[in-house]
Amino acid sequence: MQIEQRLPVEFLEAMERLLGDEYREFLDSYDLPRRNGLRVNRLKVGAGEFEEHAPFALERIPWTDNGYYVDWREMPARHPYYNAGVYYLQEPSAMAPAQILPVQPGDRVLDLCAAPGGKATELGARLDGRGLLVANEISSARARALLRNIEVFGIRNALVTNESPARLAERFPAYFDKVLVDAPCSGEGMFRKDPDVVKAWYPEKVNECAAVQREIILQAADMLRPGGYMVYSTCTFAPEENELILLHLLQNREEMELVPIPCEGGRESFRPAYTLHRLQECGFAAQPNDRTDAGFSHEPVAEYSDPDLSMAVRIWPHHCGGEGHFTALLRKKDGNGVPGQTSMTEPLSLRAERKDRKREEAGKVPGKASGRKGAAGRKGKERQSQGAAGLSKTELGYVREFLERFLPGMDLDTDLLENHNGRLYLSPEGTAGIRGLTFLRNGLYLGDLKKNRFEPAQELAMALEAGAQGEARISLSPEDARTAQYLHGESIRIDDDRDNGWYLVCVDGYPLGWGKLAGGQLKNKLLLSWRN
Ligand code: SAM
Repeated sequence: MQIEQRLPVEFLEAMERLLGDEYREFLDSYDLPRRNGLRVNRLKVGAGEFEEHAPFALERIPWTDNGYYVDWREMPARHPYYNAGVYYLQEPSAMAPAQILPVQPGDRVLDLCAAPGGKATELGARLDGRGLLVANEISSARARALLRNIEVFGIRNALVTNESPARLAERFPAYFDKVLVDAPCSGEGMFRKDPDVVKAWYPEKVNECAAVQREIILQAADMLRPGGYMVYSTCTFAPEENELILLHLLQNREEMELVPIPCEGGRESFRPAYTLHRLQECGFAAQPNDRTDAGFSHEPVAEYSDPDLSMAVRIWPHHCGGEGHFTALLRKKDGNGVPGQTSMTEPLSLRAERKDRKREEAGKVPGKASGRKGAAGRKGKERQSQGAAGLSKTELGYVREFLERFLPGMDLDTDLLENHNGRLYLSPEGTAGIRGLTFLRNGLYLGDLKKNRFEPAQELAMALEAGAQGEARISLSPEDARTAQYLHGESIRIDDDRDNGWYLVCVDGYPLGWGKLAGGQLKNKLLLSWRN
């Protein structure tokens, strides 16, 4: 069937108006083969090192420093590296937004619309264990997939919340250094990839999504600290959901400004977004003071000097190996008042920060494992800080002894330890004051305190350093039949002279999960839901 017959007529009409001379080339791209991507987990391996021992042919995606085109026929989702969180499989264009947000270790980062975690996993990895990632998702079902991806990636310093942007905005005024808004959208950029997205599209959807986006982008901006950066992105072409949302932000938050996108690698592939003038010309935005609707746009654009919307970028399938995307980088100017912050209440968690600072001043360095945590099943429960976790010296001794075996030399910071009926968590630093939100995870799930022993959690296994040596680890090769057996949940034979006890099972040094050795037989401790 001709492409024109496979796509909604209203969509085609809008694309023709927008693209002009390029329209035919755009349509032809629907018959080109799709490109698939793999993004390396920089917490576990450097891109260069991965390139050296990658089990698949790789071709670098130009706008990333850790993303590659891969051939799906090589089945990267079936390789044990996938179970070990060595990479994430992601549509190539969708890698751009997290690449563009200038996240630094130590930042407080918010991913507002984060499920299933394609971008949150990259943002978390960029933090390199320092600072905080709040990965939020409004849909509880989707938030569970997000949680799993954060855990598989081994991100220690992440909270996973299931909240509306409005509620987060109330709790975190001017709190974050970096914010990503990968907004819910009409998904036109995915038409090539997924026929179901075409079926779910209807002309009014563009304006319905735009109404949500207009709210979310203001709430996101209010959570950004002065001097902080925000990325706004969608996977749709409609200007109503892209340039015109930026315009809405700039009109309503004068402290926000668009900034050029620092992505040399995208120079050849990205195209500048449309200027307001151009959108007015092709009927997507009304002329100043024109109160009549034009095209899909029901929002007359008030008189407004044209900000350089073309600093944002469009990623088109006929210009690069990827699907349709839109990405803009914005900055909150320094030294401005923060709109929406009506009271003088101090930003959340300041108290906790002061405590952290005091500890730093006293020369107390947080433990290596401080940071992330995992806690499926605790949704809806609020954080209950219990200081040193109400553990006896002996109980603390079991935990320390276990952790010492896998993290030699670590200094367990008991102030960050939380005890929920024997389930032990390690909170990210500075988060003790964050309460009253729906968490799927509010720290790294270390394991369970049982009678006279400590049993480690899967989440802890995934957060342990990759590539480390040590007698507490059993590292198998991907080709070793025992790797597949372990991932199926079977016991495996370990025929060397090791002591009985807990071992971290790894593939090529990348942690997969736990096993307990007794007489040469390693009992499988991989959680049921983590097995192949
Ligand atoms: N960033 C994700 C990733 O890279 O994997 C994809 C996010 S997807 C484009 C947009 C997300 O926004 C969806 O998970 C959707 O559930 C969520 N969403 C839907 N309605 C929303 C709303 N009103 N406010 C905030 N998020 C919403």
